[in-house]
Amino acid sequence: MTRAGHHASRSGSDHQVTRLRTRCPHCNAWARIRTSYVITALYTELRFECQNDACGHIWLASLEVLRTLCPSDTPNPEIQIPLRAQRAPSENAMAEPAAMRAAG
Ligand SMILES: [Zn+2]
Repeated sequence: MTRAGHHASRSGSDHQVTRLRTRCPHCNAWARIRTSYVITALYTELRFECQNDACGHIWLASLEVLRTLCPSDTPNPEIQIPLRAQRAPSENAMAEPAAMRAAG
């Protein structure tokens, strides 16, 4: 599944995205984002590379906007994000915001 997206990362929001870190699911070393593919305003795919030379794992993860916790003071009318729902008790239990899981 090779994407023709070598230049797709040239968007203004990349600086925020690339600060994100996660750990390699195989060896638990820190991984770095090498490329981000902005699919929609609410969905980004991130290509991670494990920083452990002995591992070398490269994978694709997703970063998705799920809910608004504090509304924007400059909202974009085209962006529809669900507000924090009452039926999401698990949100309070998410103590590790950096613990992303690869979707595939
Ligand atoms: Zn690794």
